Amino acid sequence: MDIRDGRELSPRKVVYLKFIKDNGGRVRTTDLATQFAVDPSTITKTIAELSETGLITHEPYRGICLTDDGNRYADYLIKRHRILSLMLTHYGFSHEQACTEASRFESQVSKEAIDRICAAMGHPGQGICGEITHDDGCHNQDPTP
Ligand SMILES: [Zn+2]
Ligand SMILES: [Zn+2]
Repeated sequence: MDIRDGRELSPRKVVYLKFIKDNGGRVRTTDLATQFAVDPSTITKTIAELSETGLITHEPYRGICLTDDGNRYADYLIKRHRILSLMLTHYGFSHEQACTEASRFESQVSKEAIDRICAAMGHPGQGICGEITHDDGCHNQDPTP
């Protein structure tokens, strides 16, 4: 699977990837089942689909690990949420509302849009729910001097 845009994954997979990232890049199936209160068989299916994308590996004794690609992708997903939620606070949303609202539509927004918004906001270093990291994509959107 060619990953370029951030819209390839369903919201559930996005949430799983972010969870794995937040937990140091490695979790067990039971951690996901506990965290999201879903049936382990559902988790297994979603994890198998995610493995096919090359974003994670799943081995019997090592658990579920982010690959390098998966790690970069998770960084982007986190940035996407933080850029959009920060943007919403400019329109009168409270921090909590902005977080919730961004989670509703963030998986529909293209990377190009995120990169442009990031550049237009001057590459903010701090979002409302954490630090924002920047990649080459958003810097390429800077107006040429
Ligand atoms: Zn948030
Ligand atoms: Zn940026």
